[in-house]
Amino acid sequence: MKREVVIIGGGFGGIKTAKLLAKADVNITLIDKTNHHLFQPLLYQVATAALSPGDIAVPIRAIFSKQKNVKVVLGEVVEVLKDQKEIRLKDDRCIKFDTLVVACGAKYNYFGNHAWEKHAPGLKTISNALNIRERILMSLEKADQIDNVEERQKYLNFVVIGGGPTGVEMAGAIAEIAKRNMMRDYNNFSPEQTHVYLIEAGPRILNGYDESLSQKAVEMLEELGVEVMQGTPVTQIEHEKVVLENAAIESPNIIWAAGVVANAVIKTLDVETDRAGRAIVAPDMSLPRHRDIFVIGDAVHMKDADGNPLPAIAPVAMQQGKHVAKLIKNPSLYDAVEREPFQYLDKGSMATIGRARAVADIRGLKLSGFIAWAMWSVVHILFLIGFRNRLHVFVEWMWHYFTYKRGVRLITERPYD
Ligand SMILES: Cc1cc2nc3c(=O)[nH]c(=O)nc-3n(C[C@H](O)[C@H](O)[C@H](O)COP(=O)(O)OP(=O)(O)OC[C@H]3O[C@@H](n4cnc5c(N)ncnc54)[C@H](O)[C@@H]3O)c2cc1C
Repeated sequence: MKREVVIIGGGFGGIKTAKLLAKADVNITLIDKTNHHLFQPLLYQVATAALSPGDIAVPIRAIFSKQKNVKVVLGEVVEVLKDQKEIRLKDDRCIKFDTLVVACGAKYNYFGNHAWEKHAPGLKTISNALNIRERILMSLEKADQIDNVEERQKYLNFVVIGGGPTGVEMAGAIAEIAKRNMMRDYNNFSPEQTHVYLIEAGPRILNGYDESLSQKAVEMLEELGVEVMQGTPVTQIEHEKVVLENAAIESPNIIWAAGVVANAVIKTLDVETDRAGRAIVAPDMSLPRHRDIFVIGDAVHMKDADGNPLPAIAPVAMQQGKHVAKLIKNPSLYDAVEREPFQYLDKGSMATIGRARAVADIRGLKLSGFIAWAMWSVVHILFLIGFRNRLHVFVEWMWHYFTYKRGVRLITERPYD
């Protein structure tokens, strides 16, 4: 009898685990509620009309078409029944496992303000990105048709809440659209009339980075025309309005990028969690007292050797997937009384700011500007799954770099009709 390995989630962690089990004598069932693996780090480029969804998403079935020990199931897991060793899907199907790898990621954290979500969508899925893209493009169309300056202004305001890497990347890309790229296509307003706000409640943006890089990021964003508001908590979000302690900004373009909370599946594991609902696991990534259940990636809380929580980024998820696959592949490691603990190798972090600027911290080496952007571009191209996608994204970036043009400016829904 082969070991039945069930993996929940075809994101960075789940895909890595399944791929590294290609030669293992196990049956793998990989379940995802979507049919595609999504390269989330480039989602903001879909939201800002630089790339198409197909450039950054690949059908999970296509990834495993040649790996015969993987069965791909499209379905949403709603519950893990630890003691029965099975999972339940939304349509009430149950799937048994010998070993379970929970890699279901996270979702945006509205810190208890659930009503804010519909006014300020987060950027997590292809449909989020397309929705944001439609709103940005539609706003500019509206602004082009309104002559009254006061009435028009809200359509020229863009608000990004949360100054982590996603918020910084989003604000930089919107500033390029709203202040440079497409301005010659509109006659009714000038780039000076558009405002892009990046709002951060904490004292500085990119707070996981060295302070000097946060400062560089502020400078680069300001050069692009972004108004960076640090130490500025949002107190309320309403329909087309963000309220701050001493001001309010009207805009139909409000994007939420402020922190994540674990996926609902984690609750059903009935395990100790941190404040963001992420599972607290044993050093080998398994659940305490349940050695056959592992949790990896954004769904888990783990600390590094200095006691700092590991960041919710793709390399952490992939390295954890690699660790779990190694245990599953080797019965002697899997059955050991004390299993090898997971150790994170920090290869650095990067965030891009517009067309040819970025900040990077590579093992203590702090870089900013064009060189950091070039490194960012190479790393992101290399990690994209599929040769076709790599080639296409490379060509699109070169085209964008030399022409300043954004190719995917399509409005298919009409958010204000
Ligand atoms: C906009 C954005 C930008 C980012 N930029 C970067 C970056 O530049 N660099 C970086 O390193 N990291 C970045 N990240 C973070 C990175 O994407 C995550 O850390 C990484 O995706 C986590 O991997 P994971 O496998 O834990 O989860 P994910 O990759 O999120 O995968 C989870 C999978 O589980 C599936 N799923 C969820 N719930 C269920 C369910 N109930 N049933 C079945 N399937 C389910 C989902 O559909 C998804 O496919 C970014 C994230 C976002 C949102």
